[in-house]
Amino acid sequence: MSYLFETKRVIERKVFKRASSLVEEKIKEIRSNTPNLPYEKTKLAEVEINKFFYEGKTVDRVMIVLRSNGCQHYKTNGGCSMCAHLNGAPLKEKITHKNYVEQWNSVLDGSFVEKTDKEFNLNDYPVVCVYNLGSLLNPEEISVKTVQYIFSTLNKYKGVKKVIIESRAEYVTEDILSAIRKVYDGVVEVGIGVESTNFLIRELCHHKAIENTQIISDAVALLHKYNMKALAYVNFKPIFLTESEAIEDAIKTSVDCFKDFNFDAVSVEPTSLQENSLANYLYNLGLYRVPWLWSLRDIIHGIYDRMHVSKLDIRLGGYFDEEVLSGSQGTGFAQRNEIFPHMTSSNCSYCTNEFVEAIKQFNMTYDVKDLDVVKPCKHCYKLWQDTKKVKDSRSIYTRIDDVLGGE
Ligand code: SF4
Ligand SMILES: [Zn+2]
Repeated sequence: MSYLFETKRVIERKVFKRASSLVEEKIKEIRSNTPNLPYEKTKLAEVEINKFFYEGKTVDRVMIVLRSNGCQHYKTNGGCSMCAHLNGAPLKEKITHKNYVEQWNSVLDGSFVEKTDKEFNLNDYPVVCVYNLGSLLNPEEISVKTVQYIFSTLNKYKGVKKVIIESRAEYVTEDILSAIRKVYDGVVEVGIGVESTNFLIRELCHHKAIENTQIISDAVALLHKYNMKALAYVNFKPIFLTESEAIEDAIKTSVDCFKDFNFDAVSVEPTSLQENSLANYLYNLGLYRVPWLWSLRDIIHGIYDRMHVSKLDIRLGGYFDEEVLSGSQGTGFAQRNEIFPHMTSSNCSYCTNEFVEAIKQFNMTYDVKDLDVVKPCKHCYKLWQDTKKVKDSRSIYTRIDDVLGGE
């Protein structure tokens, strides 16, 4: 009996390994097309402002994206299937502490703003996101000294009530959290990419490289020890899943994040398409569609139902019409920024804008009624309902093999 069980386990492991290397090899092949653009190392990658729900009120949030060295997972293993942030990092040069300081000082003195009629004062933004296209807590990507410098300057800005940063779970360590707490005692929230709590979906569809979720639980516990908030990113609709499988996965993962991992907040992130990602490659072949916005309503209802609540700190992420104060390339929608997706989750062209407005409203209240107000669209609602009925009887392994398995 135990021999049979062991044999089954070994076979399963082999099948997993094969699927995993097919995904990783394809991602690496696609990444090799990433252009080596001549970025200015002292200029920010992007600054955007939008609305945010904080302590019962709608406030202004500024999102500052540092031009950075890029994500280590991306550089070593090819990174996640839906992400192409390395498009925004210099491939052959290194951003130094001095470069980062210059970038950050341009935030403090407002000199980064491209629009001449717009004055910028960090104090006007109760919520400040500082992102580095990777993990701000990974000293290989950005030094502890730099992170301390950024946080230490924030003490002077009493208008700033909350700072949001991002990191993979494995870089949430005592060393870095205590280094931050030495210079800053304000509210800090750390966004961690969980993507899915289903092993096969996370490791094969997302290619996340977090085989053991214990590191996620440990990271959340450590953040709480340092009086920081933990935010889970849940990617909605990775490649190789049907729409209804993806909806169920996003609901289950979000509930797991609250109940099992003890996250304080969840941000559901519908997949969007950037050049040089595996998701984009499959989209170009007609093998992937970005998620429907209608599905987000199912997800929020599903989470609230299973949590038996009518409101939670749950956000709908994505790129929804932010005001861009500084973007590094171009001014048009598609080419305005190398990290900006060329396609985001959508319904049809008749109703997408209305739904996006509802999402923006929801993000200011977390009340699902704000999503419910959108009436079924006569052009696409039925199509979406039919899409949800699509079934795929193949295993995830077979789906991967059928698309990437070659001869
Ligand atoms: S999603 Fe995060 S961890 Fe994954 S490749 Fe992108 S930056 Fe790296
Ligand atoms: Zn429609």
